[in-house]
Amino acid sequence: MQLVFDQVSYTYSSHEGEIAALRGLSLSVGEGEFLGIIGHTGSGKSTLLQLMGGLLAPSAGRVLLDGQDLKDRQVRRNLPTRVGLAFQYPEQQLFAPTVAEDIGFAPRNAGLSAAETDERVRFAMRLLRLDYDRYASLSPFELSGGEMRRVALAGVIASRPRLLILDEPTAGLDPAGRRGLTAVIEEYHREGAGIVMVSHSMDDIARLATQVLVLKDGAAVWHGTPRAVFSHAEELRAMSLGVPQAAAFAADLRASGLPLPEGLLTIEALADALAAMGGAGTGAGTAGAQRETGEATGAAHTSADAGTGAHHGL
Ligand code: ADP
Repeated sequence: MQLVFDQVSYTYSSHEGEIAALRGLSLSVGEGEFLGIIGHTGSGKSTLLQLMGGLLAPSAGRVLLDGQDLKDRQVRRNLPTRVGLAFQYPEQQLFAPTVAEDIGFAPRNAGLSAAETDERVRFAMRLLRLDYDRYASLSPFELSGGEMRRVALAGVIASRPRLLILDEPTAGLDPAGRRGLTAVIEEYHREGAGIVMVSHSMDDIARLATQVLVLKDGAAVWHGTPRAVFSHAEELRAMSLGVPQAAAFAADLRASGLPLPEGLLTIEALADALAAMGGAGTGAGTAGAQRETGEATGAAHTSADAGTGAHHGL
């Protein structure tokens, strides 16, 4: 499954005049890919996601799903099974009396039987680390903020979309909640889905994305591999968008004389590069990187722990 933007523009008309939110954007994202989107408020990110989800139609250009224009109503039929869209703070859309009914709403609405719907609900709850026996019959409104977020995302995933579109999915969560949810997204991607994710976390984007789009004033400033995009470190910093922590750390080490290669975007890659340099004079750096790696490993454990239970205030 492939979603293609072909020279897409979108203009809002309001009483204050016209606002060009997207200007001639082209991109392509398919199953197994992970498109990370970064940009300031007002750069056009949420307009872009709404166009991807078929909620807006382009003012110019085409949005194509497997070669078919999304403006065609026939093509938008059963769209949630192909493209799942989770807005920012999706828990605000919860409505059903129980968790299971909320998560099962879309499959049931698409005409699946009770048994098939139940199977989808269980699948989505398993993925989102929501124990069925514990949560299924609770009211979503009794849950913590992080649990509500996971219920809302389970509701999107219950349709098993081949492309999952997420607008800052971890916004407002505590660090354990962020790690737990990021692990879920990673898992869904590993299972073969395509992911589109708007995020302010350059570390998450660097680690997860296969392609990165930097938006400014509705147009792509850069679009390419994380390595290519984050090679514009100075410009990204000047735009206050920043770079992954490891890239910033590597740049500091380079400035202090260590001949590190470019393109080190994760702590693991930086640690490997420092270890490969070996020899005298790099010992302190290697130790530092190992310490960082240790923390990263610890974080992975924490997220796994957090994922198994409901007692972590997620
Ligand atoms: P982002 O998600 O990056 O903050 P948006 O897509 O929300 O960007 O906004 C892009 C531009 O479109 C901004 O200038 C914003 O003010 C404008 N805009 C967004 N939604 C509307 C709307 N409903 N009516 C008028 N202008 C809008």
